[in-house]
Amino acid sequence: MDCIFCDIISSSREGHFIYEDDNHVAFLDKYPIDKGHTLVVPKQHYEKITDMPEEMVGILFSKIPKIAQAIMKTTGAVAFSLAQNNGRAAKQIIPHVHVHIIPRYAEMGAVWTKRTIPSSDELNSQATQIKSNF
Ligand SMILES: [Zn+2]
Repeated sequence: MDCIFCDIISSSREGHFIYEDDNHVAFLDKYPIDKGHTLVVPKQHYEKITDMPEEMVGILFSKIPKIAQAIMKTTGAVAFSLAQNNGRAAKQIIPHVHVHIIPRYAEMGAVWTKRTIPSSDELNSQATQIKSNF
């Protein structure tokens, strides 16, 4: 199957991982809305959350607090937003279920910042820092 996230999970495409367990990974978004923007992704390919067994949805979301805490601790973000888009009209770009953890910074105010394109080195160093804060 042609899926960018499946490729990242199988390591055939570069990913900046901050977390992994048997059934999930979390990696930095390549086009972050804010520093530390992370995607939490089930390893098994489902397009939408409505395709997943209920208990897997519950387990996926149960991973979020500890991942968010490590991100907050590393980045100094004061808050975070969660987003989970299903379907093109909802701006789901990659058709593989993922939950966005978007750190928010006091100095940025409430507006969504523009997505940026950090270098691979920058993302690697961020990922290493966050991993050390679990
Ligand atoms: Zn996939």
